[in-house]
Amino acid sequence: QEVLVQVRDVRKWYPVTGGGLFSTVIGYVKAVDGVSFDIFRGETLGLVGESGCGKTTLGKVILRLQEPTGGSVLFEGRDVFKMKPAELRRLRREMQIVFQDPYASLNPRMTVEDIIGEPLEVHGVARGAAKRKRVKELLEVVGLSPAHAHRYPHEFSGGQRQRIGIARALALNPKLIVCDEPVSALDVSIQAQILNLLADLQKEFGLTYLFIAHGLAAVKHISNRVGVMYLGKLVELADRQELYRNPRHPYTEALLSAIPIPDPTVKRERIILQGDVPSPLNPPQGCRFHTRCPLAEAVCREKEPPLVDIGGGHWVACHLRAGEGVPTVGERDVAA
Ligand code: SF4
Repeated sequence: QEVLVQVRDVRKWYPVTGGGLFSTVIGYVKAVDGVSFDIFRGETLGLVGESGCGKTTLGKVILRLQEPTGGSVLFEGRDVFKMKPAELRRLRREMQIVFQDPYASLNPRMTVEDIIGEPLEVHGVARGAAKRKRVKELLEVVGLSPAHAHRYPHEFSGGQRQRIGIARALALNPKLIVCDEPVSALDVSIQAQILNLLADLQKEFGLTYLFIAHGLAAVKHISNRVGVMYLGKLVELADRQELYRNPRHPYTEALLSAIPIPDPTVKRERIILQGDVPSPLNPPQGCRFHTRCPLAEAVCREKEPPLVDIGGGHWVACHLRAGEGVPTVGERDVAA
């Protein structure tokens, strides 16, 4: 498979300052702390984790909508973090984002034509009649009527507004779209329509998606591979089927156990994690999950587990699970 984006040891730390006149840095919130993975051309890579795990920050840092603290992102071999503004501007055409909240991300005082046409003008791709023609094409592509190009965002439903956001992201023919929880603010009945649209567009235009979501249920049907983040770290990454059938990281298992199984003959025990996610300002030493992990041992408190490939592109960061034949949480409970 061809690698489109190579993410290596990416970090995004936010300084925390103390009070007083000459406030000094007293620590860092390590929102993303050394994350590495590849995104293959044409795939949908789902990225999940609870609020505050760093997934949205990571998505924005990959596009350099936020400045990184360290690491590198290679887009078709070019280092995004080292680019000068002019080069970065050219790259913006190829990497776009669809935001979670279509209400907040569209300027209420601009017509749909202006919203979708803005990137075309900013990048000098089309103006005037050519721009209007392209906007109409894009509206059709996302299933909206070109006759509505002069309406304002408030005249559309939530699902339609997200279609406008998608049309805007498509305007410059990007290769990669970061979809940041694109359906979670929408009614359940509308979610499937938007997901189907994204799938159709991917086929039609050969798009690559990094699809960020809160839980594993949301990315199950659209992802080729799925990555799981916890407290600024990638803890597991695998092909979709492998991850859902054979999760190795105890955190992934806990997330999966929360998804209801439609088949009543299959029973899966719900794994309830103890405690809250610790603060990213002071993450636990060793494995960051050890304060909540049902399997934690002494080594987990001392050493940070590296993310290793346990075979077939299944990556796991766990001292106990990064080998073969290690029982899962469920199996261990049965054996005990
Ligand atoms: Fe749990 Fe230890 Fe594995 Fe971390 S390294 S997930 S604490 S078993």
